[in-house]
Amino acid sequence: MKLETRQTTGSFKLRGVSNTLLLSGQTAKGFVAASTGNHARALAYAAQQMGKPCVVCMSKLVPENKISAVRALGADIKIVGSSQDDAQQEVDRLVLSEGFLPVPPFDDKRVIAGQGTIALEILEDRPEVDTLLVPLSGGGLAGGVAMAAKSVKPSIRVIGVSMEKGAAMAASLQAGKPVVVTEEPTLADSLGGGIGIPNHYTFNLCQTYLDDIILLTEEEISAGISHAYWQEQKIVEGAGAVGIAALLAGKVRPSGTVAVVVSGRNIDMALHQKLVSEYQKI
Ligand SMILES: *Cc1c(COP(=O)(O)O)cnc(C)c1O
Repeated sequence: MKLETRQTTGSFKLRGVSNTLLLSGQTAKGFVAASTGNHARALAYAAQQMGKPCVVCMSKLVPENKISAVRALGADIKIVGSSQDDAQQEVDRLVLSEGFLPVPPFDDKRVIAGQGTIALEILEDRPEVDTLLVPLSGGGLAGGVAMAAKSVKPSIRVIGVSMEKGAAMAASLQAGKPVVVTEEPTLADSLGGGIGIPNHYTFNLCQTYLDDIILLTEEEISAGISHAYWQEQKIVEGAGAVGIAALLAGKVRPSGTVAVVVSGRNIDMALHQKLVSEYQKI
């Protein structure tokens, strides 16, 4: 297990964000993104470390606990409209009017390269790894990891894992082009959302470098969360548990050494407690 749950702010997102700020942040007046989750937390934290302002735009549908988690890291929250598109329009406005640098959550070369460092670390520690299981949403993580891993070890297999409900990259790869899917509630909430139309980088990366994609039911994801807790004493969010869940469900046949990217830990703790206590009763 590659435990990105141990990262400051609770997910791997700090890698792509830090890389972007170090490469392009020096001259920016501040930073801005439209995000509700782990990307927003990472950006707020990294901006604070740099001593620059950060604005995170969210729609009014975002629950209060997510808003306060990002605000606690020092970001200004702008509540705009009732969709991710409205939030993105406010980002574009702030870029023009304030000279803020937009930091995209996945479809950006600097972000993708940052996420790819996960693969370099895994192969440095364990060169014998021959299969990588990677959570997949917009594809910055899986695309970056797959490209980096195969540059070092061309024979490695890299498998993306998503939920069955509303997996935008899986549907896009199936269609041969980026498509819109309806977002549905899922335990793997960090894997929700579209891949962007147009998509500039991650669709091609995933098409080129991923060997396979596995889709999981909500029950399977829940089992992954519970297994991580009861067998490994790890608190893992749904998106972070999908690699473990894919193995548990028997949806990948492990050959040789398998590494699982456990991507994040930010789960509502009341929900976590409910899932793990129900699992033990089975
Ligand atoms: C963002 C995120 C992912 C998916 O990353 P993409 O680059 O959008 O594919 C997976 N797990 C967690 C915990 C995340 O926060």
